[in-house]
Amino acid sequence: LSDRLNKALKNITGQGKLTEKNMNDMLKEVRMSLLEADVNYEVVKNFIADVKEKAMGQEVMESLNPGQMVVKIVHDEIQELLGSEDAQLNFKKQGITTLMMVGLQGTGKTTASAKIAKYCTKKMKRRVLLVACDVVRPAAIQQLQTLGQDIDVDVFTMGADVDAVTTAEEAMKYAQDRQKDLVIFDTAGRLHIDEALMQELSDMKASIQPDNIVLTVDAMSGQDIITVARDFNEKLGITGLIVTKLDGDARGGGLLSVRSITNVPVLFVSNGEKMDDLEAFHPDRMADRILGMGDVMTLVEQAQDKLDMEVEQKTAERMMAGVFTFNDLLSQYGQIKKMGSIQNMMKMIPGLNKMVKNVDDDKLNSEMKRNEAIIQSMTPYERDHPKVLKASRKNRIAKGSGVKVADVNKLIKQLEQMQSMTKMMSGGRMPNMGAFQNM
Ligand code: GDP
Ligand code: MG
Repeated sequence: LSDRLNKALKNITGQGKLTEKNMNDMLKEVRMSLLEADVNYEVVKNFIADVKEKAMGQEVMESLNPGQMVVKIVHDEIQELLGSEDAQLNFKKQGITTLMMVGLQGTGKTTASAKIAKYCTKKMKRRVLLVACDVVRPAAIQQLQTLGQDIDVDVFTMGADVDAVTTAEEAMKYAQDRQKDLVIFDTAGRLHIDEALMQELSDMKASIQPDNIVLTVDAMSGQDIITVARDFNEKLGITGLIVTKLDGDARGGGLLSVRSITNVPVLFVSNGEKMDDLEAFHPDRMADRILGMGDVMTLVEQAQDKLDMEVEQKTAERMMAGVFTFNDLLSQYGQIKKMGSIQNMMKMIPGLNKMVKNVDDDKLNSEMKRNEAIIQSMTPYERDHPKVLKASRKNRIAKGSGVKVADVNKLIKQLEQMQSMTKMMSGGRMPNMGAFQNM
């Protein structure tokens, strides 16, 4: 792929806007790459069409060529399609929360059930019960019991002679008696979807009414995972996904297919056979993996860093010159947000790093949000020329951002203080700390 890719990159030169013509070669490469990653071809087709439409006419970022720019857009779009990073299981406020694990045979249901049981026991202090509802194979019950022993979690079973629905119902009574607050049902799977399996799962759902129905998506799954996902979702209503076997080589494009069908969040990543091999889902990393264009993405990231640095530098230069406006403040807020928190930002500044312990991040963050809203209610001209902000303008801004005029005044005062500080310090080396002065 790499050779082809380089060729495609060389064929495209020049800056400017993205056009049908300068995107085409790279979109072909992207298409190939996604198919190689086992993304369903229908999904790929629609995806490429969407990206094309979105990308058309976009400005190519400096130091990228159009082909690289396309990859950046594709990557961002895949990440978006993969969904959010911090999805959680649905927990009931009171009583017993239930989770039904479903999926094809061998995709890692039993393993994932036990991993989640361990995670919720250890990290969330839940009182967990595992229930062996895969009564098709006696070995499956044994497998769950063994895992339960390893992780020290109760396993409920009535043996292979009692059907799954009865087992599930009895398990709920057992859980009530023992004051469990999370019950995880491990269910049976087949190599292919079949009616009997689906009926059993539907009956279980009707009886238990699970708070979570989680589908395991094997990273190795191929084109037909889309049919599987559609079937499970139509019959059961999936609430979340787990990608399994991400420790292997497979790129895991099947996940993209499943997301396009279910649109439910990925809750965990399973990446190994050990009970601790359970991770939070990172859509950005997964997008890298599925797209498989690491070398281009490195270039794209460098370009992005450069762009951020240029913005930073411009602000710094203006500050050196004693100029500091609301636009500068806004871009500093942006930087802070990228660092994750004001604390993280302060840790990097000599002199301030020792004060970090005394910072109330929550308070600063809510102030930052409010200030951002105020600035966003200003016109671009007002942001660069704070002096024009007289009573009527202040009123409008306060209304627009849902704050009191006093809050607007406070922010203007802060900016004036920052300005006088930048004037004082201009000429010397400028620590980039205007944004949290007086906050
Ligand atoms: P089930 O049939 O859906 O219940 O699947 P199992 O949980 O029994 O898993 C099937 C096989 O895959 C077992 O050998 C597991 O040890 C293995 N397995 C499950 N999850 C993972 C994983 O994340 N990584 C790896 N490498 N193996 C896994
Ligand atoms: Mg199993």
